[in-house]
This record gives sequence, structure tokens and C-alpha cells, in this order.
Amino acid sequence: MKAIISHDIDHITVSEHLFRDIILPKYFMRMHIELFSGKISTREYILRWSDIFKNKWQNIDELITFNNINKVPSSFFVAVNKGVGLNYSNLSAAVWIEQMLNRKCELAIHGIAFDDQKHIQDEYNLFQHLTNQSQFGIRMHYVRNTENTYQMLAKAGYLYDSTEHAFKNPYKIGAMWEFPFQIMDGWVIENYKSWQSMNLEQAKQNTIKLIDKAAQSNIQFLGIDFHDRYFSHSFKTWLEWYMWLVEYLKGNGVEFVNFKQAIQELESYDAHGK
Ligand SMILES: [Zn+2]
Repeated sequence: MKAIISHDIDHITVSEHLFRDIILPKYFMRMHIELFSGKISTREYILRWSDIFKNKWQNIDELITFNNINKVPSSFFVAVNKGVGLNYSNLSAAVWIEQMLNRKCELAIHGIAFDDQKHIQDEYNLFQHLTNQSQFGIRMHYVRNTENTYQMLAKAGYLYDSTEHAFKNPYKIGAMWEFPFQIMDGWVIENYKSWQSMNLEQAKQNTIKLIDKAAQSNIQFLGIDFHDRYFSHSFKTWLEWYMWLVEYLKGNGVEFVNFKQAIQELESYDAHGK
């Protein structure tokens, strides 16, 4: 089993949310619940306030550096449209898109349009225009999908999608590869709540169960979604969970690849009829 780790960019600054959505009130609510339930320390609580004053809700540079040290290819999903609490502009995304391309990351789109062919195509074209890439993939924000989403993405020209949550191997829809993924940070740390409900040890145990399930299901590429936003001491459990997960996989001989490397591998299997 190999692993594909990818990162959704949901936020860049704090100010992008001001008077536009309810992310900030939710953030305050969440950090107080986590403080009073003993899930976060006073230090983390103070750091969360300091992030607000620094107007910094992304940790892209820090995460790429950590990944590079650990031989994890950095694969990002960046949005070019706004919606469902995602509110950064193309201009502010462009700064990070440039940085990701300079640092040789894999760059794909964090999709907003999911149920209308024209909107899906417009989003594809806009991303192509902004990033100058000819082939790229997508993951939907909040993994939104309908029964027709994947067909529409394939029709728009996407190389791959990784929105489906399932213990299944990659498969093709038209010319597009669908990479179901199995582990998301929030699923194991929040566990169906809107705040951190698990401690680090519980999150690790839940994760090990998912990895074991993937191995039993003969999953070829373990899909993991970790949000850069949590690669921070303000979210100590999340940060430590991610660093532990990379170590755990390395310790178990799991090699890291990005989506395009996985596709190359899948297509060379096909070509050799293996
Ligand atoms: Zn998202």
C-alpha cells in the first residue's frame, strides 16, 4: 500500500470572512467548547486569538517544508470560487498558487460547483487560466456531490477527482481517474461533532483502525486529507496527529506519492496487463 496525502485550502486569512459568513462566530464557539471540555490547553486558546490578530489562517509554507523533510509530496486543492464558508479571493489564492508551483507541489482545484455542468466547466476553465496547467484534478469542498457529479467532472476534462469517501481502489469514469479517499483529519479528531471531541490517543487509535481496514480491503493508494489550516500549534492535537501519522506510515514501510505519480503507476499496470 502507498499513501496519497493531500491538503484542502479552506481559509487563507481571517478577514476574508468578516461580514461574509458565519465562520468567525463558529470559530469562537468551537474554541470555548474545546477549552471548557479540556480538549485544548490555555496556550492553544491564546494562540487561536493570536492567529486572529495575525490574520493568518493558512500554514502552507510550514506544511510544505515538513512534507519535504519527510519525503511526502505536497498535493494541494485550492479554490477559485467562493461558497459554503470558503471566502478567499482569486488574488489571495494566486499568491499561494505561485508559491506551490515554485515549490513543485501538485496543484488541483478545491471545487465549489458540483451540480451543474456549465458551472463545473466555468470553474475548470478559470483554474486553467489562473494556473496555466493543462492537466489537473479536483476535490469538492465539503465533498459535495450528487449522483451525476463525477460524470460531469469527467466531461469537463478533469484528470482525476478525489471526492468520494470509500474503501475502494482508484477507477476510471470516462478518461478521469476517481481516487476514493479513506481518512480525513476532521472525521477522526472531531468524530461527527463541530469541535474536537477526541483526544490525540483516541484519534490515533481510530486512524490505525482505518489503516487496517484499508489494508484488509487491499487498498492500493491510501487517501488522506489533512487541512493545512491545522498544521499549527494553535491546533496541537491536529498537528501532532499529522506528524504521528506520517511517522506511523513511514514506520510501516508505506511510500508516499501524489495523484499524478499514482496515475502513472496505474496506467503502466494497465499497459502491461498486470
Ligand atoms: Zn474544503
